Amino acid sequence: LDEERNVTSRERLKVEAYEANLELYRAGLVLGTFGNASAFSPELGVLAIKPSGVPYEDLRPKNMVLVGLDGKTVGSSLRPSSDTKTHLALYRAFSDVRGVAHTHATHSTSWAQARREIPCFGTTHADYFNGPIPCTKPLSSKQVRGDYELETGLAIVRCVGKRDPRLLQMILVAGHGPFTWGESAEKAVHNAIVLEELAKTALLTLLIAPEASPLNKATLEKHFERKRGKKSYYGQK
Ligand SMILES: [Zn+2]
Repeated sequence: LDEERNVTSRERLKVEAYEANLELYRAGLVLGTFGNASAFSPELGVLAIKPSGVPYEDLRPKNMVLVGLDGKTVGSSLRPSSDTKTHLALYRAFSDVRGVAHTHATHSTSWAQARREIPCFGTTHADYFNGPIPCTKPLSSKQVRGDYELETGLAIVRCVGKRDPRLLQMILVAGHGPFTWGESAEKAVHNAIVLEELAKTALLTLLIAPEASPLNKATLEKHFERKRGKKSYYGQK
């Protein structure tokens, strides 16, 4: 009976990953086969992720690939996304994370390529994080030539540092693009959509006013707290 339940849970995890990947595609954040989303179940000890190089139009729940925390594929002949090791590094380091998304969306990728953090110019941004969206340090040649995708994940973990990954759920990987995460795969994709918008509006803000300064601390804290903090009062109870 336990085995039966596990099979059902695995199928459900695949559906969750499938829907998250489809949502990335529908939101216009992916070009070609770039980008991927995964869903993780600590109970099953596996993540479900997009198969490598399969066009989004051809995706089906059944061809999502299950991968254990040890990096081994479980019961699939398809190869998982080439970024799987990056996703795994995040699940290992951030215990409450259940979903990860990665895109090469234009605006967030542009900031990542410029190797700049995204300053918090407005309340839309402050609702999601009370400070700039950080950008990782570039990888060394040795790290790139070594276990590249794992090193990318470790660079993200180092960059998050002492910040709480339940509060900071988005980051830019220098010279590459954005990675986002959350309590579910759906939430990770939502954060990818939000980050693209934050990246776009920050760029436009600097175009209009290159001297623009980030939001003051009081407004930053107010907005973050009312939506995310312990005394939040945004939305319905
Ligand atoms: Zn990528």
